[in-house]
Amino acid sequence: MLNSKKYNFAGEQTKAIHAGEAPDAVTGASAPNLVMSTTFVADTDTGFSVESMDENDTWVYTRWGNPTVSQLEEKLAVLENAETAVAFASGMGAISALLFHLLKAGDHAVISDVAYAALSEVTNEMIPQLGIEITKVNTSDLEAVRKAMQPNTRLVYIETPCNPLLRLTDIEAVAGIARQSGAKLAVDSTFATPVATKPLELGADFVIHSLTKYLGGHGDALGGAILGKREDLLSLRKKTAIRLGGSLSPFNAWLIMRGIATFPIRMKIHQENALQVAAFLERRPEIKKVIYPGLPSHPQHELARRQMKNFSGMITFQMENGREQAARFAGKLQIIHYAVSLGHHRSLLFYLNSDDLLKTSFRLSTREQLQSWNCFAGEGLFRLSVGLEDAIDIISDLRQALED
Ligand SMILES: *Cc1c(COP(=O)(O)O)cnc(C)c1O
Repeated sequence: MLNSKKYNFAGEQTKAIHAGEAPDAVTGASAPNLVMSTTFVADTDTGFSVESMDENDTWVYTRWGNPTVSQLEEKLAVLENAETAVAFASGMGAISALLFHLLKAGDHAVISDVAYAALSEVTNEMIPQLGIEITKVNTSDLEAVRKAMQPNTRLVYIETPCNPLLRLTDIEAVAGIARQSGAKLAVDSTFATPVATKPLELGADFVIHSLTKYLGGHGDALGGAILGKREDLLSLRKKTAIRLGGSLSPFNAWLIMRGIATFPIRMKIHQENALQVAAFLERRPEIKKVIYPGLPSHPQHELARRQMKNFSGMITFQMENGREQAARFAGKLQIIHYAVSLGHHRSLLFYLNSDDLLKTSFRLSTREQLQSWNCFAGEGLFRLSVGLEDAIDIISDLRQALED
């Protein structure tokens, strides 16, 4: 279905616009078709089970594959320099399929101790209940990763920069550790995006994106994807993804494809705006600490410069009395929406209660883990997804909300 090798585009923006797309052979339509059909008129030798599905088969049933979804998959693969991609109904759909595909009873996985909350929660209970052993470590600490590896470790799962701390993990170094133990490395690169970092080139086996965020970019379509080698993903698609059923709607694929057309351009502005907003916040007396990978004050700024070609648009900052400040922001902000999610054209701000998160999602236990949390987050943590409005307006909005 996919053949990312056929493209020879030099630039990211050309890939974003043209990969996976071609004028329609019948109508000459320049924009991609939206094919909503769930079933397709089949050859009489088409099998009824996905077992017999072949990569070059024609379309059968949309859960197995769909022309519009396939166009998106091809675009994503080209952007990430991956052999192939499998799209899902959401980022969590992609993550769950990967975990179910790779892990079975008796296996062990090393997972970042701070990562997207739903992934953290799935690996706290559901996955261990299946007889799979999970060790949570701060994956920025390479020694901790090395110590956590066991003979039955099948998967190392990292997120960089991680949600919500914006703590980074050295992908190349962790890929080396995973390879030595014969484990696969999966990287959730939602915050970095393919314009910043290409984890597969640094030795990762799988890259995960929530397409809901920067790739779709407009806050109107959930989606997810796993990218990697054809060999790994063909079997993941056939044995796991199609059966678990978290398939992406063609309509969402179409919206996300349309969003991706401007993705590299958007990332430039996200970064430019975030640098200005982060510098503004750092100067404000009300703000205790600002964490942004593009600031020299980020504890891993050197790694960020090495591993990220674009620092993306996510900032966290700390204030005293977080809960009261959250109510104040929610009441006073005029441009920035007080809302979860990120990577949209609109700026979004949300308060994260450290006490709750540490008890529910993350359950950090060791002194080192708590120290790292406090170094990056502490109390009164806000996550700001800097949007594409003019920086001057985002800054004015924050200023008027901070001042009485
Ligand atoms: C949002 C997000 C996810 C989950 O994606 P959904 O599309 O909401 O399911 C996974 N990882 C990261 C880093 C995210 O920000």
